[in-house]
Amino acid sequence: MIKSLLIANRGEIACRVIRTARRLGIRTVAVYSGADAKALHVRMADEAVHIGPSPARESYLVGEKIIEAAKETGAEAIHPGYGFLSENAEFAETVIKAGLIWVGPKPGSILAMGLKDAAKKLMADAGVPVTPGYLGENQDAKHLKKEADAIGYPVLIKAVAGGGGKGMRRVDDAKGFDDALESAKREAASAFGDDRVLIEKYILSPRHVEVQVFGDSHGNVVHLFERDCSLQRRHQKVIEEAPAPGMDAETREAVCGAAVRAAQAVNYEGAGTIEFIADASDGLKPDRIWFMEMNTRLQVEHPVTEEITGQDLVEWQLRVASGEKLPKTQDELSIDGWAMEARLYAEDPAKGFLPSVGRLALLDFPESATRIETGVEEGDAISPYYDPMIAKLVATGADRTDAMMGLAAALFGLRVWPVKTNAAFLLSCLQDPDFQSGNVTTGLIGDRGDALAAAPVAGENEWRLAAMQSFAPYFAGSQDARAGPWTQNLGFRMNADDEVRITLEHAGERRTIDLEACADASGFSAPFGDGALVFKDAQPFLFTPPRFGGGGEHGIHDGEIEAPMPGKVTAVDVAAGDKVEKGQRLLTLEAMKMEHGLLAPFDGRVTDLAATMGLQVTEGQILVKVEPDE
Ligand code: ADP
Repeated sequence: MIKSLLIANRGEIACRVIRTARRLGIRTVAVYSGADAKALHVRMADEAVHIGPSPARESYLVGEKIIEAAKETGAEAIHPGYGFLSENAEFAETVIKAGLIWVGPKPGSILAMGLKDAAKKLMADAGVPVTPGYLGENQDAKHLKKEADAIGYPVLIKAVAGGGGKGMRRVDDAKGFDDALESAKREAASAFGDDRVLIEKYILSPRHVEVQVFGDSHGNVVHLFERDCSLQRRHQKVIEEAPAPGMDAETREAVCGAAVRAAQAVNYEGAGTIEFIADASDGLKPDRIWFMEMNTRLQVEHPVTEEITGQDLVEWQLRVASGEKLPKTQDELSIDGWAMEARLYAEDPAKGFLPSVGRLALLDFPESATRIETGVEEGDAISPYYDPMIAKLVATGADRTDAMMGLAAALFGLRVWPVKTNAAFLLSCLQDPDFQSGNVTTGLIGDRGDALAAAPVAGENEWRLAAMQSFAPYFAGSQDARAGPWTQNLGFRMNADDEVRITLEHAGERRTIDLEACADASGFSAPFGDGALVFKDAQPFLFTPPRFGGGGEHGIHDGEIEAPMPGKVTAVDVAAGDKVEKGQRLLTLEAMKMEHGLLAPFDGRVTDLAATMGLQVTEGQILVKVEPDE
């Protein structure tokens, strides 16, 4: 067994790998960028090496720096995690040439699966069913059109070098083909430097079913059953589960058998996933499930497989990389129970899922049976440089309903603030009747329009809970407890009848609440600063004592406009002294590869302007001050 391991990754997967390595007595080395100097994976590892500035292309994507770090620290092996360099055959090759152990498949296997057309050909030859279509030997536009006509519409045009849904176009009829082809080719050329495409039959009622496979250097290959990842938003997985709902023994045997053949065809070593697409218009059927692609690494959603099989896949990876045989034979593997995983993201569903970066002042996971995979702790920040995933919540149960209920309970018990999350969206997905019955296609979220992403709003119950929470500290023990509020909190008033009233603000609204009416309020609340945080359907709401100048809007205090996240000022539209109108854009901040306009909160005049073109700003930095009109 290897004795030391460098993890060429960050976040939850780096922490996940370190945990298993430690249990196996392996010394761990973390690498980190500028933004990650104090990150959890750095704190967890035995040693850590700084490999460059925050942007991934200057740190986590620089192969030489990672290999240098391994040499410097005497690490024997490199685990790439997922993303970053994990499917880069050239990097794997360099690692091996440097005399290090690559915890992953042979570079040749990565290459063989890298291009969609070559992979499909290889799979078809190995007897793996592939989606009907044309592999694109002849790229002449007229010829491609003829092939599409022959396949029958709708068809899907895919870039052979594709990934991340780029260079992919659905075409519904012959009329639309030429335009779609041109734009798919244009996108493919600019994204991959390769404009070749293939054409597939577009599968209606598509379900995403994938099979976990594992190979070793002794020629053994097994599968660890399937996962269903059909619940997707714009081709990104949202909730994954294992096993797949509605999977019968015959279909399972067909798809898992095909996955093993696929892995054998590329002499696969280590952890891999064969992704299939199923036409589920009539349930899952053995002859309606086709190879889509192979991911030659550990997947984000591997924990659901671990939960139903009782195996530690990272341990398997490390054993296989050390030259050992697979820990189990196919006969020794079976499915026990159900597991479901949700990806908790720092993003705002109500604003088109815009990433929500910043410090996690509050991050509290429920104490339940749920497995939490995370790379952050309370007080850490979600930075704009990387994927803004906060955690994976993995619930298990005897059956699907059990696992689903466990996941819902975990979401209900979650406490995250002030970073926005998709928790309420995840809960809405879990509560969707089609999701609950296992009738999920990759189009479900899209079909629902904005319904699942709509943010819950605070109602009367939440105002009352907040009022109770705000008053609670003053009941606690002290004899002159009732004196407290009047000296400390401007929101309290007592009238002639001894009624206690509390004035609170939330989302720009101010209300005065009679405490006696609050006795029947129900739900969760917590103190936060001088305010109260109330949770409803996994959505947090902050209520504060009244502030002068109104507001309550994030980043605006008395007309001081703060940077809502770290970024760069790319435009300044006003000068000090300018008169501005409410809603007028003051400046533009570029963060998370997107532009954010910062607007005037009210009619007034710009009194201070700290922002200049090109200025790098940190979250919370005051950029401009507006004084309201009298
Ligand atoms: P990429 O590598 O760019 O992510 P994939 O080939 O993995 O592209 O496809 C991404 C997603 O597109 C799949 O998860 C599935 O939801 C959908 N998809 C792919 N092929 C088809 C098809 N033939 N018919 C319908 N949907 C498809």
